[in-house]
Amino acid sequence: MTTQSQANDSVFSSLPLSKGLLTNLTTLGYKQMTPIQAKTLPLMLEGKDVIGQGKTGSGKTAAFGLALLHKLQVQRFRVQSVVLCPTRELADQVALEIRKLARAIHNIKVLTLCGGTPFGPQIGSLEHGAHIIVGTPGRVEEHVFKGTLRLDDVNMLVLDEADRMLEMGFQAALDNIIGRIPTKRQTLLFSATYPEKIAKISENIMNSPTLIEVKGSE
Ligand code: ADP
Ligand code: MG
Repeated sequence: MTTQSQANDSVFSSLPLSKGLLTNLTTLGYKQMTPIQAKTLPLMLEGKDVIGQGKTGSGKTAAFGLALLHKLQVQRFRVQSVVLCPTRELADQVALEIRKLARAIHNIKVLTLCGGTPFGPQIGSLEHGAHIIVGTPGRVEEHVFKGTLRLDDVNMLVLDEADRMLEMGFQAALDNIIGRIPTKRQTLLFSATYPEKIAKISENIMNSPTLIEVKGSE
């Protein structure tokens, strides 16, 4: 059973988020944070690197989505956040959720860059600019190599479903992308499992991360 004080601790309004984001969360019907959101958001909003481990459906997207929207400077029309996902379907879902969370903030541009779609329109969209890129490692890497995507202004990197990205053989693409992102950044890593490979990659690319594990029953 949840006590009253625990319930109050897990309302979104206990977080230092902008009034616009909080009002929008109410509109979306998000009142209580899920356990992984309640544990990771206070740290992420302080700018800390976080590894969040929790099962599917635990609300990981809104966790990192709110953290990156909180950090974003809307008036700076540069790519400031990169979210990497294992598949196009997941990237589309993540982009949709971020756009939903960002509804309160006008003129936020979220661009998806996934394989299996032609380069031309993506290059056109990149020329128009974006604040947030959500994509799959292979295609994002290709844009970085072509010079159609510059990552010099990125200060937030999110690896979503990191375990699946490694299983799918994206290690080299991830290394190449991360190598182009300034080291002075916040890095968030979300995963359903926490194998040795993830521990290793996090050691190399993150800055004293806190591991938050939320078990299925919570
Ligand atoms: P995960 O990435 O952990 O698998 P998702 O981020 O896809 O989970 O979230 C699962 C669902 O829960 C989504 O439909 C999302 O809109 C919803 N959701 C997330 N956080 C909350 C919340 N605090 N309150 C209500 N619904 C939420
Ligand atoms: Mg997810």
